[in-house]
Amino acid sequence: MINQFLYAMLENRIELIHGDITKLSVDAIVNAANQSLLGGSGVDGAIHRAAGPRLLEECRSIGGCPTGEARFTRGYNLPAKFVIHTVGPVYYGGKHGEAEKLASCYRNSLEMAVINDCKTIAFPNISTGIYGYPKEEASKIAFSEVKRFLGENKTIDKVIFCCFDAENYSLYMHMLVSSGKN
Ligand code: ADP
Repeated sequence: MINQFLYAMLENRIELIHGDITKLSVDAIVNAANQSLLGGSGVDGAIHRAAGPRLLEECRSIGGCPTGEARFTRGYNLPAKFVIHTVGPVYYGGKHGEAEKLASCYRNSLEMAVINDCKTIAFPNISTGIYGYPKEEASKIAFSEVKRFLGENKTIDKVIFCCFDAENYSLYMHMLVSSGKN
């Protein structure tokens, strides 16, 4: 079960959820995919399991995705209409352009949502699982990119940060609460 929204900010255009992204009825959920787009572990595996085999078929026809970019598919058996697949950077210590690549994932996913007329979009905490990105640094990048994008683009109604693990959820909660005070 999903813990209901506990925090909303920026005129209710940013929300935080502690739960499973595959359960969300939004226009698009973002997948933290790998370059093959052929499925994997973590959130990627969960999304493919919930969407069913037609998602893999469509991903196969795309032929992969470079790090930092995003690709768009249907959601099939998911409650979400679409999936935006983005490939986060593997963290190699922070001096290999990881921050810029992670920021691109958020930007390109949001642009993909706009191009495809998606008004509600949910993100997992890209790169903070197997790819080893330090969670606090990643959360700051995610938040600043989303905030900037929503400031410049009014067509997206809502961005949901969907945190699965308690550590990320607590980091986001603190970040959003302290940002709301400023
Ligand atoms: P990456 O390879 O980009 O690190 P992972 O899937 O290993 O991708 O982890 C990214 C984040 O996704 C992690 O913070 C993990 O807790 C989270 N995650 C795993 N399963 C789910 C899920 N079903 N819904 C939302 N987030 C999930």
